[in-house]
Amino acid sequence: MTIKLLDPRVVSRIAAGEVVERPASVVKELVENSLDAGSSQISVETRGGGIGLIRVIDNGVGIPSGEVELAFSRYATSKISNLGDLESISSLGFRGEALPSIAAVAEVEMVTCAANDSAGNYLGLRDGVTVDRGSRGRSQGTTVTVRNLFRRVPARLKFLKSPATENSHIANVVSQYALAFPEIKFELFVDGRAGLRTPGSGQLIDAVAQVYGLEIARNMLEIGGGEWEGGAATSSLLVAGMIGSPAVSRSSRSYLSFFVNRRWISSRLLAWAVEEAYQGLLMRGKHPVAIINISLPPDEVDVNMHPAKTEVKFQNERAVFSAVQRAVRRTLIEQAPVPKIEEVAALYRAPSGPGQVLRTSPVGGDSPATPQTVSQTPMVSLPVLRILGQLLSSYIVAEGPDGLYLIDQHAAHERVLFEKIEGQRSRQKIEVQGLLEPVAFEISPEQEEVLKSNAEDLAEFGFSIEPFGDRTYLVRAVPALLYHKDWTGMVRELLGSISEGKRDWREEMAISMSCHSAVRAGQPLTDDEMRELVRQLEQATLPHTCPHGRPTMIRLNSAQLRKEFGRS
Ligand code: ADP
Ligand code: MG
Repeated sequence: MTIKLLDPRVVSRIAAGEVVERPASVVKELVENSLDAGSSQISVETRGGGIGLIRVIDNGVGIPSGEVELAFSRYATSKISNLGDLESISSLGFRGEALPSIAAVAEVEMVTCAANDSAGNYLGLRDGVTVDRGSRGRSQGTTVTVRNLFRRVPARLKFLKSPATENSHIANVVSQYALAFPEIKFELFVDGRAGLRTPGSGQLIDAVAQVYGLEIARNMLEIGGGEWEGGAATSSLLVAGMIGSPAVSRSSRSYLSFFVNRRWISSRLLAWAVEEAYQGLLMRGKHPVAIINISLPPDEVDVNMHPAKTEVKFQNERAVFSAVQRAVRRTLIEQAPVPKIEEVAALYRAPSGPGQVLRTSPVGGDSPATPQTVSQTPMVSLPVLRILGQLLSSYIVAEGPDGLYLIDQHAAHERVLFEKIEGQRSRQKIEVQGLLEPVAFEISPEQEEVLKSNAEDLAEFGFSIEPFGDRTYLVRAVPALLYHKDWTGMVRELLGSISEGKRDWREEMAISMSCHSAVRAGQPLTDDEMRELVRQLEQATLPHTCPHGRPTMIRLNSAQLRKEFGRS
């Protein structure tokens, strides 16, 4: 399509506004243009935090001779032409605002060559006005160079952060698009140093390895083996991408990436959907790694919401939410790996040769405790195990068809009880035990607020608690599981943790109940008790982690045994 000025009626309907907020916004707009131009290679260079220089080079379709200057007019675009097009946008850009907005606040040079042009064209602008033009040799594609950004807009300059911070925003933009377009070769050079280079292999895992490193890449699970359909609610909603196994959780949400028809967006709704799917698998305060691609017909999503185009509105928000949540949950259930004995052993072993790194963080910590030798062994469920004995009064030693298992009795029991409690609660059939005499207990004013606002839920879990005046409460019944346990301690702990505003408190409640009623480490178990616990674990939906996200077991298979003993 040729570049044309948009009709004023279309202009009045687009969410116009400032698109150039900081250097990273310039990079984002230029990279999006290169992507819309069908490039297979995009190279980004910046200097001085993007203020000195930003250069984006692509090998896309280029701009035909006669249209180069027009590209810098406000509302000139080749991507849409009428009101109807606004309803169904399939390109990343559509408002014809980026190039003129950038040119208005910087010195810009463009060299571009389209397929049918014999030579490339050159255009130089300063403060939005053309100062130079001519022809210049270039193979097909476009190079845009932006210098001295915001030099004449001191108010904007003042709000920028340090060059290092601006560089990290720029690197994030390039990284996100590298994840969204694994078939495209991306390069980033920051102040002359190579920052990122993706191979353009078309495999998401290769882009992940470059952006997040090998540790994370090794622990990624592919969503549903490819695609996940959204069901009847929307015509054709697909969820694809990769998610981190629970072993690579992070302490912030910045490792969650969402793309809608390959547009990078931010969405609290989708972040929530993903975190919901990890319920019971991550430790408190930890967040998953995920790269989620949602594809749906362009007319089912409105991208014309915000000038920076980072927010979208789904026609059927609920369908999208539940498709994402189910796709992630299903992937976790089907593929979350059992940590192997080597992983744990490696924590204590000295590095055995060059290139091998000693990891000291616990499993589930910020850096994953997964040495190079470990491959993922997806296991749908646990095989039938033969109990060999108990170790240190804390671990059950068992044999399975594929090797030796060491099971943490407390973590395993927590998992079993957690699923039991969740099951009983969803059927509203929590087993309750009445107390022979009501027990009075006193709580703080803060805890009282929490108790009042959650009284119904506490009742749902089997606690019968009534006010007795002066912040004293009478407990008449407790969940049967907790009858002989320290349930007052548990309730106090729970009221404290909810008042900190931690995540879903019902889940917190189920976790806390399972933790307080599970067998402890150091408690001797009879053969029958061990057999019963393992039998119940075999039937759990997610047998490999406790509800806090820690592993319930480690495994050593026969190949590993042979290796440890030096046999081939
Ligand atoms: P939009 O992307 O919304 O159309 P822009 O101001 O970013 O608006 O770009 C204006 C037009 O210039 C685009 O519609 C496109 O035709 C052309 N253009 C910009 N960058 C490139 C590029 N790298 N390769 C080819 N064409 C480009
Ligand atoms: Mg654009």
